[in-house]
Parts: sequence; structure tokens; C-alpha cells
Amino acid sequence: MNDLKLRTKPSGSDVQLFDAVVIGAGFAGLYALYRLREMGLAVRLYEGAGGVGGTWWWNRYPGARVDFPSAPYYSYSFSEELLNEFEWKERQPSQAEVLSYLDFVADKLKLRTHIQLETWIQDAVFDEIAQRWNIETHLGEHISTQFLISAMGTLSEANKPNIPGIDDFAGEIIHTGRWPAEEVKFAGKRVGVIGTGSSGIQSIPMIARQAEHLTVFQRTPQYSIPAGNRPVKPEEIADARANFDKRREFMKVSPLGMPYPMSERSALDDSPEVRNALYETLWQDGGLHMLFNSYNDLLTNKAANDTLCEFIREKIRSIVKDPETVKKLLPDYILATKRQAIDDGYFETYNEDHVDLVDLRDDPIVKITADGITTKNGEHPLDMLVLATGYDAITGKLLRLNPKGRGGLDLATAWDKRFFTYLGVAIPGFPNLFMVHGPQSPSVLYNMPYGGEMEGDWIRDCIAYLRDNNIATIEPAPGVDEPWAENVEEAAKQTLFHGTDSWYSGANIEGKHRQFIVHLGGPEYFKHLTDVAEKNYEGFVLGKESATLASAKA
Ligand code: NAP
Repeated sequence: MNDLKLRTKPSGSDVQLFDAVVIGAGFAGLYALYRLREMGLAVRLYEGAGGVGGTWWWNRYPGARVDFPSAPYYSYSFSEELLNEFEWKERQPSQAEVLSYLDFVADKLKLRTHIQLETWIQDAVFDEIAQRWNIETHLGEHISTQFLISAMGTLSEANKPNIPGIDDFAGEIIHTGRWPAEEVKFAGKRVGVIGTGSSGIQSIPMIARQAEHLTVFQRTPQYSIPAGNRPVKPEEIADARANFDKRREFMKVSPLGMPYPMSERSALDDSPEVRNALYETLWQDGGLHMLFNSYNDLLTNKAANDTLCEFIREKIRSIVKDPETVKKLLPDYILATKRQAIDDGYFETYNEDHVDLVDLRDDPIVKITADGITTKNGEHPLDMLVLATGYDAITGKLLRLNPKGRGGLDLATAWDKRFFTYLGVAIPGFPNLFMVHGPQSPSVLYNMPYGGEMEGDWIRDCIAYLRDNNIATIEPAPGVDEPWAENVEEAAKQTLFHGTDSWYSGANIEGKHRQFIVHLGGPEYFKHLTDVAEKNYEGFVLGKESATLASAKA
């Protein structure tokens, strides 16, 4: 144990003391920082990127934008001032617009003095004697903090595919989630894109506009819906501002935390004619409303789901001219059990003469060479390769940090057989470590800025309770993770998510546990969090001795 202390926390004046350290400057991290600072804690946020924004800092690929008709709702809901002072321009804001919003928030809430950018946390060890986390940055700085809050993002650990020869490619290789800040030029180049998830589908039409030739390497065809982006109307903003409180009340009870009414009808209640007319209206309007404003059983009833699958397949047949390309593009999995994509001219792009589609299910990649990609049936010479290959989602970033908890047990070992947490916010054996959007919380299947606010509030209240009661540590009691995991799996089993290999269940990463790690309970989940807090943190063990708070010392 003493070894652990010595390893990351040399005693002496070079150790920086904080009450709380937050990792990650996306929506969730900025909010946690704000709340913890407001309660008077000595808190610092560390961020590896060169600016705030999290996923909106890194995903600068062409075409990146919010995939929900969201302005002004893909934003913080807690502050009327923020809503009134930021002018959203587009219904589905671009990456640049969301980034400028988060910059505006960081300035408005005066967060920047508490943020250290371009700093990666590379080690975090819980010191059982001091009851504090000892942290080391890649710059060699040593930090001691009572509480450690991971807001490292759910889709932040890029998945570099394990394709033979990938490091031999002589041209530029860019992952969509690590897009450079400077402009990437495609003109005059033969570009390859691997992957047709949301990032591929958003970027492919934009890349096709510039590239001399584009080859798309597709493993699974997708059901994409037109985005229907447009300028946000002044009356929409005025309405949001006028109904600030009402909107929050609505979001609290909405299954996805969204300020939109959801349909209460089954897709099987309508005749095919009525159903297709509704789908057509929603298709023309664009966006994910097609899933939520159409019928309530698309994700629970396969026959209902099939109706929308077939509607979209018919759209693909009508848009794409070449029958061979149509065949390759027709999806056959259960719609929306992989994250639903939206697009701006995606299927139309395949009508362009300079765009080719390789169906990797028939013609798999054999290797990547210096000059391009070799598939079973041929050579594809390339000057540039875009990896739209997704992420080691939800658990990847925390596992890369691999914090060490009680007894020096590291997270990778603790999660060796399966992922387990309590409430998706804490991990047995890792005291005073909180996760926002952790595995087994609603995270990616809920309104993320709003969910992050509610989890941030819960963490703030929990820390306040510990302080008020002179309690040094909090951690899940032995055994509470089992029923929680069952609860999460049980909710997923009521849906169609189980029928599909997706990143929700770890299927996209070789060797990752095949476990559905998103809590589908929505409002029930947040009610459960509140209940636990009201019962003085039922299910947690509270350590009696108090560690000295840095703010109290200061
Ligand atoms: P993704 O959905 O995981 O898609 C990755 C794509 O790469 C899939 O088509 C996958 O095929 C393919 N792929 C992965 N490894 C491969 C390999 N070795 N060989 C060939 N193909 C391979 O990743 P993403 O598109 O980056 O999206 C991730 C998530 O980020 C989305 O689901 C969404 O939640 C979020 N996102 C949101 C927005 C937005 O809000 N605007 C935009 C982009 C992303 P398989 O399907 O066969 O695995």
C-alpha cells in the first residue's frame, strides 16, 4: 500500500491539492466543474484537447452535426440566461456551432480558470491511507484529490481497425473522431472511407463533393433518414425561451429526456396506407422524429419495426439508380438497434460516377498496402484513408486510464469478466470515483446534455452530503452491482436491441465483453438515483474518517 502512495504521490510541495478533479471538458465535464465550484470546492478540470468541447472538439469531420432536430434543445437546460443569450442558427447545429456554444458557456460561467487544457491524466491510484486519489498527468504533474469525476465521454476512444498493413499506408489516415483543426483537402485525391455508421454517413457526401474519386468500404448497410436541416425559426427560439420551466418539466418525464411528445400508437394499429403516409410526412420533414413521433413500438415489436425497415428500403430503391449498388445498400438488421443515422444526401451520393461502393460482406478487405486497399476481388488505389470506424464506446476511455482502486486493483482486472457498476455512477472497489454517462447509466440513449446535468447534480449532492456528515469515502457495498446489472439487462430484454451486434453491446470491438451497457429506464433511472440519495446513499458504504479538504485548508 505504501508503495502505491510513493508511486504517484511524492510527498512535498510539488503535489497540487484539490477536493475534486474532473476529467473531460465536454458537456458533462463542464457542468460538473460548474456545480462543484459553485459549492465551494477546490476543483480542477483536466482536458487533453486544446480547447473545451469534448466530442465537439474532436469530431470536426466534414458534415458533423447534431443528429436530432435539436436547436435550442441540445444545450444546457438549467440556465435561462444561457438559453436567452446564445443565438442558435440551425435546427441541427453543426459541429462548429455546438463548439462555439460550449466556448460561450465556458466564458459565461467563468470556468476557464479552473480548466487545464492539453493535459492527459495518465495515472490515477487510490491511496487507502490518505483516502485520496493520487493522479499523474502526462506532463509529470502530481495531484492529490479527494474526489475524481470521470466525464471522459462515451464515444471518445477511437477504434482503429485491426486490418493487416494499416500502418504501411503511405497517404494520410484520419479517424473521424480525431479530425485535425486545420482544413483537410480532398480535391484531386482518391479517398477511401471505411465505415458507414453515423460519422461515415455524415461525411461521405461532403467528401464526395471534393474528392477526385471516393471509394466507400461498407460492412453493414444502414437505414439512414434525411436530416432535414434548416435554419432555426425565430418563433421556435421564442417559444423555448417563453416556456423554460415547462420544457424542463416535460423533459423530466420524457422517456428520452427530450422536449418532444412521443407517439402512443402501435405501428400495427394503422393500415399500410395510413402508416406509409405518416412515414412519408416524417421522411419529408427529416430527422429522428421519424422514430419517436411515428409509433411507440418500433423498438419493442419486430413486426412494427419491419414496417419502417421496408419503408426505408423502398426509399433506397427509389433514390439509387444502379441496381447492383441498391442491393449492396439495402439494410437487413432490426432498424434503430444500431444507432440510427441521419444524412444529407447520403444515398444520392452513390449516383455519382466518381463514387464506388465496396460491399465488404462479399468482397472483404485482405490488407492495406502503401498504395491503397486490397480486397478479395481487387485493388483500390488511394491517396487518403478516412476511418469512420467508431469507438470503444462507453468503457474505452476509462479503461485506457485504468485507475487503481482498493488494494491496487486496476479497473481492467476488476472488469476482466464483465462490466459492473452501481447505478452506472460508481464502481465497487473504487472509492470516491464518480462517472458521468458511465456504463449501465442511460448515457447515449438519452438526451446527453440533460442526463449529464442530472448526474452532475447527483454527484454534487452526494459530495455535499459527505462533507456535511464528515464522511471521507463512498463506494458501492459488496454485491450491489449484481442486481444493478440484472436491472439493466432486464430492461434491454424488453426491447429489440438484443437482436443486433452493435457498439451498445460491445460487438464492434474484438475481445470486448458482449454485454448491453446502456440503462434504458430514462426517468425511472433518475428517480432511482434520487431514491438512493434520499435513503442516505443506500447501497453504498460510507467511510467514517474524513480526509482534509483542500478548500478547508486554504
Ligand atoms: P459506428 O457507428 O460504430 O460505425 C462504425 C462503422 O465502421 C460501421 O459501419 C462498422 O461496421 C464499420 N467498421 C468498424 N470496424 C470495421 C472494420 N474493421 N472493417 C470494416 N468496417 C468496420 O461509429 P460512428 O459512425 O463513428 O458513430 C459512433 C456513434 O457516435 C454513433 O452511433 C452516434 O451515437 C455517435 N455519432 C453521433 C453523431 C451526431 O450526433 N451527429 C455523429 C456521428 C457519430 P459494422 O456496422 O459492420 O460494425
